[in-house]
Amino acid sequence: MIEPVRVFAGIGGNVGDIAHTLSAAVARIERESSVRVLASSPVYRNPPVGPQDQPDYLNAVIELEVLLSPQDLLSLFLAVEMEFGRVRAIRWGPRTLDLDILTYGDRIVDEPGLTIPHPHMHERPFVLVPLADLNPHAVHPVLNQSYCDMAEHVGREGLDRVDVSLFSAKNRDEV
Ligand code: ATP
Ligand code: CA
Ligand code: CA
Repeated sequence: MIEPVRVFAGIGGNVGDIAHTLSAAVARIERESSVRVLASSPVYRNPPVGPQDQPDYLNAVIELEVLLSPQDLLSLFLAVEMEFGRVRAIRWGPRTLDLDILTYGDRIVDEPGLTIPHPHMHERPFVLVPLADLNPHAVHPVLNQSYCDMAEHVGREGLDRVDVSLFSAKNRDEV
């Protein structure tokens, strides 16, 4: 029997009706029988990483319980990105939807095409601040620092909380 694993995932985008895309993507993921969405952080607007001549992003972190291997979860995320119209053109370029696996339980994965914990999460305010909102005292599986300490360390420069709600467990129970 497979044990469910707790996953934190980054979700973001900067093309089209982003708030709508992010909510629809969370609902899409929730419809998978092997995935339960447990919570979503607040949503933040922030400037782009990499090329600056692109619109601001909206970003959040979602908490999932999955019955999928890390590789199968990545395949699901890449498929959902495609469903929402993502085209990979330039590195860190504009996109309708980006889904990143941040952590998968305490597992460490380092293989071609998949690195967990996500290799840039510890340096990104738009990951650490929402992660700390959801789970302040949890500890990064490699760096052994709490997310609230890490978020404080990188600061929240450029982050603007927006009034969008992606998911609430209450909605799920009412369906
Ligand atoms: P970044 O990874 O710096 O946030 P990005 O999200 O823009 O950049 P993508 O173009 O979305 O990068 O992804 C490129 C590849 O990264 C994916 O095809 C996937 O194989 C790989 N990848 C490696 N580790 C992960 C992970 N933890 N989560 C998602 N994708 C990953
Ligand atoms: Ca990313
Ligand atoms: Ca990605």
